[in-house]
Amino acid sequence: MDKKIKGYCLTGTKRFHPGEAEAVKENSAIVEMTMPELKEGEILAETLYTALCGSDVSATLSKANFDWIQRPRVIGHETSAKVLKLGPGYKGPLKVGDLFVPVAQLGCRKDDCPGCRSGKWNLCPDKQILGYNNDGAFGQQMVLDGARAIPFIEGLKPEHGAIVEPLSVAVNAIYSKCNIKPGMDVLVTGCGIMGLMAAELARASGARVAITGVEQDRNIRLKAARERGITTIIVSPENPLLKQLEEGVKDTAGRIFGFKGKVDLVMECSGVPPVLAEAIYAVKPEHDICTIATYPDKVLLDSTYITRQSLNIKGVMGSHKENFLVAQKLLVEGIFPADHYINLYDFEHINQAFADSIQAKTTKAVVKMN
Ligand SMILES: [Zn+2]
Ligand SMILES: [Zn+2]
Repeated sequence: MDKKIKGYCLTGTKRFHPGEAEAVKENSAIVEMTMPELKEGEILAETLYTALCGSDVSATLSKANFDWIQRPRVIGHETSAKVLKLGPGYKGPLKVGDLFVPVAQLGCRKDDCPGCRSGKWNLCPDKQILGYNNDGAFGQQMVLDGARAIPFIEGLKPEHGAIVEPLSVAVNAIYSKCNIKPGMDVLVTGCGIMGLMAAELARASGARVAITGVEQDRNIRLKAARERGITTIIVSPENPLLKQLEEGVKDTAGRIFGFKGKVDLVMECSGVPPVLAEAIYAVKPEHDICTIATYPDKVLLDSTYITRQSLNIKGVMGSHKENFLVAQKLLVEGIFPADHYINLYDFEHINQAFADSIQAKTTKAVVKMN
């Protein structure tokens, strides 16, 4: 009964570069937690499995676009959890013992909010992000607003529940923004889990898909994509993407990918400014560049080229409840093959999970929290 509740807590703000795993020791600590009393409509939950997000990695590295997070903070927003206790006035569908997935972004739910009015809390200017605005799912228990909780659908495995949130973001991008049709050539830039998920869902929608990475990605992230029949492109300063596309990248069947070095859609998932700046030259006229990433700096784009080619640049911010339901179905039906991409760690090895994620040694680290 008296088991200590622990959590992975952001503590420091020392800047680290991508790949520098010392950031884990320097900027975080495993802390003991005491759970607060439940307020109106809140839920106390035991976390089952929590996944590491690229943004958790960025926050641990203390990248500039994560400076706004107050420390100390127990992070984590991709999780499956079990209800331990319902707070006063909770009116949702859950009972004690039920499993659920929380939406990461909770809106203000005011009538005059343009995002919340349409039920899209991800577009609320005052949204509260689980694990950033309050303590989150890298605690062995968490307290959250009951309005976040979406019950598990039948057949969803708890370890897969942890990746419903990131998959819901890919779902939002693919089905709300990208308008993918069979036969399209889709280039995904960046092979973090968002890139891998986007690649899988684009292909499930009938597209031919290629995904880019760097040399360091060859044996893990790009290998995972290759094993699934997705074309992979290793980009380097000597061998830049546009040059490779112009010279003719071959797909897994040996046919040329794209048309004269151009594709129908780029999905930018790397968050690296020059990758986005270059991506506009890789799409056909009147086609789309869809970005799911955030960037540490403003990105300078060749605006006249965008006009002359009549290009569309689209952004995708997070996801909302409807996307969560679709993501759960895609996992239950195996349309996104979760087991191919997740690597499980026990809670005792949570620092290793962060170090491996920082060093891109895993496609998607998922921590068994208790
Ligand atoms: Zn995330
Ligand atoms: Zn709002």
